[in-house]
Amino acid sequence: MSRIWNFSAGPATLPEAVLQQAQAELLDWHGVGAGIMEMSHRGKYFTEVIQTAEADLRELLAIPQNYKVLFLQGGATLQFSAVPMNLLNGRSADYVATGAWSKKAHQEAGRIGKARLAGSTEAQGQPADGFIRLPRQDELNLDPQAAYLHVCTNETIHGVEFLDEAHLPQTPANIPVVADMSSHILSRPMEVSRYGIIYAGAQKNVGPSGLTLVIVREDLLGHAGANVPRLLDYKVQVENDSMLNTPTTFSIYLAGLVFKWLKAQGGLARIAEINQEKAALLYAAIDNSQGFYQNPVASECRSLMNIPFRLPSVEQEAEFVRASEAAGFMGLKGHKSVGGIRASLYNAMPLAGVAALVKFMREFAAKG
Ligand SMILES: *Cc1c(COP(=O)(O)O)cnc(C)c1O
Repeated sequence: MSRIWNFSAGPATLPEAVLQQAQAELLDWHGVGAGIMEMSHRGKYFTEVIQTAEADLRELLAIPQNYKVLFLQGGATLQFSAVPMNLLNGRSADYVATGAWSKKAHQEAGRIGKARLAGSTEAQGQPADGFIRLPRQDELNLDPQAAYLHVCTNETIHGVEFLDEAHLPQTPANIPVVADMSSHILSRPMEVSRYGIIYAGAQKNVGPSGLTLVIVREDLLGHAGANVPRLLDYKVQVENDSMLNTPTTFSIYLAGLVFKWLKAQGGLARIAEINQEKAALLYAAIDNSQGFYQNPVASECRSLMNIPFRLPSVEQEAEFVRASEAAGFMGLKGHKSVGGIRASLYNAMPLAGVAALVKFMREFAAKG
């Protein structure tokens, strides 16, 4: 068996050790004689799996006691609706657009209730480079009565990231920040207490698709309107330990293995160092290519996870994708909405994979 270097944006590469463990346990988990996929979610074995996963996630992110952790379904996209359904209750919310995903979240919230665009960094007329920076505080038009302020802390398509909590928009203490962290959760230590709600689809940096993590501050529970489906009501899900209906058991199990793997790597402080090193290697290859490769994002918000770049022509980009696949790489084609190339360097991508990509890029550029 030979595994290739998988730079897909998601579903994305997973740690090989995790996949091997899952393979070894697929038919017989811990000598029980059945696999996790085949077990009742209410039985003692799966209860142990989900409780251990939550404990490890809490430890990794140092999640304060006054936050609840939910293991839900429907992807980050369903959270675009669930967040306003749980928090708006007739009020208005503020959205900041820094890329395609925060823009989508804003549009979707508008179907539920009042969602203001409090700021956008979208440059008009150049769709390919439409989002390349974070907004300055003085560009934001914040509603002091907003139910919450929504941000996407890593824009998977445009490669724009809030690299730490100091970069977040300043909001009054009574306005919770809600963050879509789908594509960089667990990539570095996060200051969870700066957020009211954190949500993330699992298939980028956590595990298989189908699982969505939601981390919600306790005081934000219980504000859902009476007509909100119980499955989407955070308070009901908290009361039912994420098991109002059958949860996505295998994805939760696999995410739990990834949490153990992250702890074994040295935790998020160590993971962050490795992620810095990987991204620095790739950005250097782009910036030192005499303009052959170009990434337009401002340096203070260049994503460490998703790095889009362009070549001199779309023909060369198509050839780059073709040649990279022949050379043993996968998933480098940019998102269809922006074109170009994109390399996703999630936690499970080793430094050696990035080094191999950079070598390939140098040889490709030399051929012109
Ligand atoms: C992938 C992604 C989504 C959509 O996730 P689904 O699980 O497909 O709903 C939303 N936001 C961000 C930032 C993403 O990267």
